[in-house]
Amino acid sequence: KKLPLDESEELGVRQVKGACFSRVKPQPLTKPRFVAVSHEALALLGLDGEEVMNDPFGPEYLSGSRLMPGSEPAAHCYCGHQFGQFAGQLGDGAACYLGEVKVPPGQDPKLLKENPNGRWEIQVKGAGMTPYSRQADGRKVLRSSIREFLCSEAMFFLGIPTTRAGSVVTSDSEVMRDVYYSGKPRFEKCSVVLRVAPTFLRFGSFEIFKKSDEFTGRQGPSYGLDEIRRQMLDYVIEMFYPEIQQNHTDRVERNVAFFREVMLRTARLVAQWQSVGFCHGVLNTDNMSILGLTLDYGPYGFMDRFDPDFICNASDNSGRYSYQAQPAICRWNLLKLAEALAPELPPDRAEVVMDEYLALYNDFYLQNMRKKLGLLKKEEPEDEMLITELLQTMHNTGADFTNTFRSLSQISCPAKEEEELVRGATSLLLEQCASLEELKAANRPTMDPRELSMLLSMAQSNPSLFHMISDRMTISRQLDKLSKLKDLMETSQEELTAKQSEEWTSWITRYRKRLSRELEGESDVRAVQEERLRVMYSTNPRVILRNYIAQNAIEAAENGDFSEVRRVLQVLEKPFSSQPGLELPSWVGTGGTAEPGERD
Ligand code: AMP
Ligand code: MG
Ligand code: MG
Repeated sequence: KKLPLDESEELGVRQVKGACFSRVKPQPLTKPRFVAVSHEALALLGLDGEEVMNDPFGPEYLSGSRLMPGSEPAAHCYCGHQFGQFAGQLGDGAACYLGEVKVPPGQDPKLLKENPNGRWEIQVKGAGMTPYSRQADGRKVLRSSIREFLCSEAMFFLGIPTTRAGSVVTSDSEVMRDVYYSGKPRFEKCSVVLRVAPTFLRFGSFEIFKKSDEFTGRQGPSYGLDEIRRQMLDYVIEMFYPEIQQNHTDRVERNVAFFREVMLRTARLVAQWQSVGFCHGVLNTDNMSILGLTLDYGPYGFMDRFDPDFICNASDNSGRYSYQAQPAICRWNLLKLAEALAPELPPDRAEVVMDEYLALYNDFYLQNMRKKLGLLKKEEPEDEMLITELLQTMHNTGADFTNTFRSLSQISCPAKEEEELVRGATSLLLEQCASLEELKAANRPTMDPRELSMLLSMAQSNPSLFHMISDRMTISRQLDKLSKLKDLMETSQEELTAKQSEEWTSWITRYRKRLSRELEGESDVRAVQEERLRVMYSTNPRVILRNYIAQNAIEAAENGDFSEVRRVLQVLEKPFSSQPGLELPSWVGTGGTAEPGERD
């Protein structure tokens, strides 16, 4: 389906009215070269990674520096709510659509199910200015490109819906960037990621039709052009939700069914994020895929030690996009999508769909968690409590999220020497806990104590302000940390270890009691145990893309050694299995806040 084109051929940052995209040309890089390719992602396009790597034009084609035959490059126009505010026109400021690749014959039918129209959209991210670049240059640098490349692929291999990354190319072209931790600007190499997905359309794609926002006064550039919204909605449903299209003759019913499916996919996606401790970092509506894929890897982070307040985006002062806020934020984003779809989607119908969200999310989450604990038989009312208490114990003891879950598979179902087994399991889990110094560091308030007490007294003298500030969790989170830190100051390492040991022993005892009920009425206990282990080993990853792992690979790549990026990718392709010779160290304690993307 042809959508209206922007009439202007000239390149210039501007409001682009009545257009879903603008024709642009990627800006060629100087001396492009591969940092790494993903064989699995390139195979989707019918490309052989080895051949591409050896092709002298490979880096040029895959970075958009040389156009593939048939390519029709364009930049997509979208809007979005950024940190809760309607920001008006955003769009592909740095990404450039190159075209679509037909799925080559003989491809895995499973993939066709994920991508029913059989076409993969490809785009290059970091390919230069577009009409949507605003004040920026449309470029991406090596560190942000490697982060996007590695995590896109890592998520896929964890079984989490995501856009894919085919390659990362760097070059001799340079741009100036402020590096947030040094505060000093430096020159960095322009780099480009080839991204692959059935479509990159997002919630924000539909927000170009939004009427003037009551708070910001901004308006979608295509406000009032209802016919274009109609076409875009038809396009999305016909292309990507063909079953919904086929099953409905009534337009409104079709649209409701579509919205319900987006709601369901989003709920399932965020439940998967929570289950692996993934934090997206910038859940603005323009980063929410219309297909329920993880989209836009900026300042994302995987949690090391469990902390529900984990914030990976250094510019997210309020914790709007913290780990525990993600399910509710995705719900809020769905409400914004519903608003953008009205009147195609009657608000009262959208409301009924949204009423299902929380229960659906909770159910997806509970099912994931039950698998992670190896609870496969009949669900018990107690299960939710057991999970909550596990997380609470992890938080109190500063336990590593990923490693703790992986360790649970070593707690066997009840056998004879009860006490000895509990002792063994406890000492195993103690290995995942924080030391006194580490816990102190984790609870050191990030806010200056003077600033904190000033905010506190301001808030106390003005209750409405308190509401505003505590809504943003700033004060309560900081105070909570302060009081924990105070307790820790009066504790010795021995006392802490004893307390941690006690907490884990108590949880493990409950867990084993619960496990014993998995065996009730089973004659083949061994088979039950084996199935439990199989499920746990395929749900609890052994490796995730920890921040320091990405950071090591980035630093090596910045010094011209790309082998670590390639090795890390290789490890992340099999996150559930032990790979001799490909071990990554587990927790080494340098996690902290993720390196943000350049403009994130
Ligand atoms: P993000 O925070 O990555 O979702 O991006 C928000 C907006 O900024 C989108 O319109 C992006 O296209 C745009 N943007 C991000 N990075 C750049 C860049 N380096 N150059 C131009 N525009 C950018
Ligand atoms: Mg984005
Ligand atoms: Mg981004």
